Amino acid sequence: MPHWILAVAASSDSNPFQSVLDFFTSPTWHFITLMFYFLLVVLWIACAYWVFKDARRRVDDKVILEVCVLTGIVFGPLGLIVYAIVRPPELVADRREQELEMQMMEQRLGEESRCSFCKTPVRDDYLVCPTCGRRLRTTCASCGKPIEPNWRVCPYCETDVHGAMPPVSVYDRA
Ligand SMILES: [Zn+2]
Ligand SMILES: [Zn+2]
Repeated sequence: MPHWILAVAASSDSNPFQSVLDFFTSPTWHFITLMFYFLLVVLWIACAYWVFKDARRRVDDKVILEVCVLTGIVFGPLGLIVYAIVRPPELVADRREQELEMQMMEQRLGEESRCSFCKTPVRDDYLVCPTCGRRLRTTCASCGKPIEPNWRVCPYCETDVHGAMPPVSVYDRA
């Protein structure tokens, strides 16, 4: 409380600040102050708890999680704002799901045909392995489309390719 209020209050009984002074020393003011502190504490705890709850779903690393929770406890509402700005954008569960999807995609890729020599993934229409140059399949003499070594007839132009196909080893460059 400023000193001049006390000085004025002491100098005269009928000063206009007397009621104000009375209010600040009254139990009502004491109660309001208490309520204010109480609400501040509640707000503080709520902020810290929210940070803890949110960080638990977003942060995988234990140390970073502890730092987040500590920020929420020490800085309260301010910590919450800082955390909300720097928190990871996605949930741990979402990230796991993405990783799983990636793994499944990689597995699907793995099921695709590979070069028998160097295991490079190759497409069905590759004639040679792009990595080691080994011949994977030959082309139809009539239409030029890629055909498998075990095919007897070209599926694109119906040409008999079984006998006409040169031995695969001729094309082996490995
Ligand atoms: Zn290869
Ligand atoms: Zn053909």
